[in-house]
Amino acid sequence: MGLRGRGRAGGGTIRSMTDGVIPLLDLRQIGRTPPVPHPLPPPRSGPWLDARGRPLRDLRISVTDRCNFRCSYCMPKDVFDKDYAFLPHRDLLSFEEITRLARVFAQLGVQKLRLTGGEPLLRRHLEALIAQLAALRTPEGLPLDLTLTTNGSLLARKAQALKDAGLQRVTVSLDALDDAIFRRMNDVDFPVADVLHGIETAQAVGLAPIKVNMVVKRGTNDDQIVPMARHFRGTGVVLRFIEYMDVGMSNGWRMDEVLPSAEVLARLREHADLVPLAPSSEGETATRWGYADGSGEIGLISSVTQAFCGDCNRARLSTEGRLYTCLFAGDGHDLRALLRGDAVHDARNDDEIAAALGALWTRRNDRYSELRASLPADADAGPARRVEMHYIGG
Ligand code: SAM
Ligand code: SF4
Ligand code: SF4
Repeated sequence: MGLRGRGRAGGGTIRSMTDGVIPLLDLRQIGRTPPVPHPLPPPRSGPWLDARGRPLRDLRISVTDRCNFRCSYCMPKDVFDKDYAFLPHRDLLSFEEITRLARVFAQLGVQKLRLTGGEPLLRRHLEALIAQLAALRTPEGLPLDLTLTTNGSLLARKAQALKDAGLQRVTVSLDALDDAIFRRMNDVDFPVADVLHGIETAQAVGLAPIKVNMVVKRGTNDDQIVPMARHFRGTGVVLRFIEYMDVGMSNGWRMDEVLPSAEVLARLREHADLVPLAPSSEGETATRWGYADGSGEIGLISSVTQAFCGDCNRARLSTEGRLYTCLFAGDGHDLRALLRGDAVHDARNDDEIAAALGALWTRRNDRYSELRASLPADADAGPARRVEMHYIGG
């Protein structure tokens, strides 16, 4: 089936979950972009809870929509091809704008910042942004937990500079140890040895603890589960297995390619004695399991088979400054307009930004993963018009 795409409206077609072809609008703008609310509620102190009583603790910031990989589950090559129009630089939030927003988010209760993308290490001078973010403090005067998710391709080269700038730790995505499988999955023929070297370098410079994320696709890399676990056991690296998710509208997701975490665990237990561990933080996405002999731990992220919306405390800021309150949201509120000032908002006023963010959070009612099973299987249906993952990050 032909699968073509453009970053601009009217540019082609896109595969639906049922393998039909639907017209492709701008993949980034597939949802609406509602303005921020106006008039705004007065600023207030204390934790902001959403409509389901969840606090705002974790902000994920996409610093670029570009990537040097073409993982088929995220940026399939036939959609994100040489004609795909990525965002022009002027549309990206500047480092100063990102830092300003992060500072206001910290005032509202955010304690953790994760830089992501696209591939975040492709954003030029990223260390300068890290240095600005590392200087932020919570209202209690504590530094924020500052981390980054990367495909690891540029990590060996950049690890020291990232550490020096104030980055605390990294998460590296790696889907296979077998070089042929890895090259096929990144779809740009990138060798696994270079990513492994990146992980070792990050460890050597003290970007710890390192987490490695492996997206498991049944029939593609599920034979890598045990070799990956063996490789990282006893190294201090925490390997986390992620269920292949129906993010975005372009990866042709099918339920039969999801390998449930329960099956991952069963396969691991054939080779090792694993015991359950308590969550290490509120709203943690992974279920933790430890090797009984104390030689490390693994994590299972089961967004498809065991939804964890109940305590989801994450917000996402897209590359061009839209706020998404769920990974599967269609709509992102335009914070860039607020930052740069428009007809109704005064860009000089941080209190106004705080009030807008608070108002958006208090209205949040997202729980897509909990509702997934009851949604129509057609990706084009109802609220399931979802933003692409490379645009808002993981
Ligand atoms: N490029 C960086 C990387 O790959 O680590 C950061 C951005 S990437 C979008 C963030 C995370 O999302 C990665 O760990 C990736 O494996 C995960 N991801 C992307 N598409 C996914 C999907 N369809 N299902 C599950 N995880 C996915
Ligand atoms: Fe790039 Fe990360 Fe998406 Fe792979 S998962 S295509 S590395 S953004
Ligand atoms: Fe959070 Fe949305 Fe994922 Fe549920 S589906 S855990 S609300 S990001």
